[in-house]
Amino acid sequence: MQEPKTQVPREKWTDRVNLTALLTRILLGLLLTGAVLLGIHFLFPPRAEEGRTVIVSQGGTVSPAAAAMARQTAPRAEGTLLLVNWENPVPFDRPEGLVTQAEIFGDEVVLVNGEGSVNREAGEAAKRMFLAARAEGIGRYKISSAYRSIAYQEKLWQARRRQDPCYGDDPYTNPVKAMPGCMSEHTTGLALDILSENHETANDAYGETPEGRWLAENAHRYGFILRYPEGKEHITGVIYEPWHYRYVGVEAATEIWERGICLEEYLGA
Ligand SMILES: [Zn+2]
Repeated sequence: MQEPKTQVPREKWTDRVNLTALLTRILLGLLLTGAVLLGIHFLFPPRAEEGRTVIVSQGGTVSPAAAAMARQTAPRAEGTLLLVNWENPVPFDRPEGLVTQAEIFGDEVVLVNGEGSVNREAGEAAKRMFLAARAEGIGRYKISSAYRSIAYQEKLWQARRRQDPCYGDDPYTNPVKAMPGCMSEHTTGLALDILSENHETANDAYGETPEGRWLAENAHRYGFILRYPEGKEHITGVIYEPWHYRYVGVEAATEIWERGICLEEYLGA
């Protein structure tokens, strides 16, 4: 025996019609909103912040057009902003304005070599920084290296090259830790390797210690930048070095810190 065909009740059929109409309206609404937002975007395009240099990255490198634009508006790479890197050798044999670390620092910092030199302005700023850190309960810092002569730096470099003859051949792909004599910014007296009594080894882990973190968050207030940040190795040609700080002055350091850029990007190099 055949079952009588069940008919869709009239109310349910009406429900389906209403549902289709509702869905159509929602879809139209979404399309309209999209069109309005697109219109606003074209009428009022987002602008780059005025007075700032915008550098566009293309696959990890700065595009030539962006770099040229940045160079036009960039601060001059001299004085405390002097750029020393793989492309820019230090332009003098020995910098002016060096003083011994023992002359600048007291008990607020541990000196590996008190007779070692540092730029006076950078040293005095570092002293204020170390005193501020101590006042906040941070452990004592230890300066493992400051000014190095070109000859001494070249010895370090040659020793590294003897271990590995290809070391530094392609630093933007395989970033280095040691630089050739005239390409290390330690030759300017403006760079300090800052470790601490609690962590005396120059490695990544230092960046995670209270002392390493305090520097990363506060050094700019005293004119220092973390010179070789993580993620900028393809620009600096140097590995992430949470202990290497470079004095550039408070204004530049603050902008570099706020924008999360490296010195090369700041200078449009
Ligand atoms: Zn260093």
